[in-house]
Amino acid sequence: MKINEYYRPSSLEDAYLKLQEDSKNVILAGGLWIKKMGQSINTIVDLSTLGLNQISENKNEVIVGSMVTQRDFEKSEIIKGLFGGAIAFSVREVMGVNFRNIATIGGSIMGRYPFSDVICGLLPYDVTLEFYPKQEISLEDYLNYKGKLNAILVSIHIKKEKGIGFYKKVKMTALDFPIINFAVSIVNGKYRIAVGSRPMVASLAHKAMDYINGLDKIDQESYKKAAEIASEELSYLDNKDASKEYRLDLTKVYVKRGLEEVSK
Ligand SMILES: Cc1cc2nc3c(=O)[nH]c(=O)nc-3n(C[C@H](O)[C@H](O)[C@H](O)COP(=O)(O)OP(=O)(O)OC[C@H]3O[C@@H](n4cnc5c(N)ncnc54)[C@H](O)[C@@H]3O)c2cc1C
Repeated sequence: MKINEYYRPSSLEDAYLKLQEDSKNVILAGGLWIKKMGQSINTIVDLSTLGLNQISENKNEVIVGSMVTQRDFEKSEIIKGLFGGAIAFSVREVMGVNFRNIATIGGSIMGRYPFSDVICGLLPYDVTLEFYPKQEISLEDYLNYKGKLNAILVSIHIKKEKGIGFYKKVKMTALDFPIINFAVSIVNGKYRIAVGSRPMVASLAHKAMDYINGLDKIDQESYKKAAEIASEELSYLDNKDASKEYRLDLTKVYVKRGLEEVSK
């Protein structure tokens, strides 16, 4: 990895203007993925002194600064209090504690990593991303956005709603990337189902959600059918960790299990 210049901005505007100066200028958060990619960088713009490492709440939402570390996020009583602790649990599945002390929530979202536990864990909730210059976009729309959003992620807004969640990461060893991951929730009486690492970035299984949310009466067969629909509507691929068929089979098992769990 080669970095020509390190820059510590005095404000978000300063950081943004520096970012625009050159296509090889890059925002620095925890730096773990940047280091792994080993790209050639002109100026690295460090966000660590802009006060973006706070978690706060108001009546309607929880606001997570983009520089909050995964560890601070998972330990936060505010986050643990959301949806039965499901979102905090999903982040605890990433690597080890030392790693999560450095990796940030913002860096985890901006990368749109196909394997991301953080993204999959947040997707079945009402989550909005706030950027500088001022722009708000839902997490799902950001994941579907084609191209690079040349803006700075300031904070992540999680709507406070009544509900509970389930999270499952399937992995070979404790510190591995997921083979596939699942997040299922029931919020205000409506089910939401996210499947990630297929091995593509997490998506909501809209057809399966429409099916189960449209039923008058829900039983074991409905969970099974919704899981089958989720396995059919999303795309799955082979890679060195698992075959497409194995991922499809896991989807049928874990989406059903997730729906059962959140319905208890
Ligand atoms: C070895 C290894 C194993 C991993 N395993 C897993 C895993 O199992 N599960 C999982 O979910 N994740 C995993 N990750 C990813 C990790 O959890 C983080 O998501 C990743 O390191 C990015 O976070 P960071 O703070 O290090 O970001 P950085 O590396 O600093 O930045 C990542 C990217 O986001 C951009 N960026 C960062 N913050 C902002 C911002 N506020 N605004 C605009 N752009 C921004 C940067 O410019 C860069 O392009 C792994 C990463 C590594 C290196």
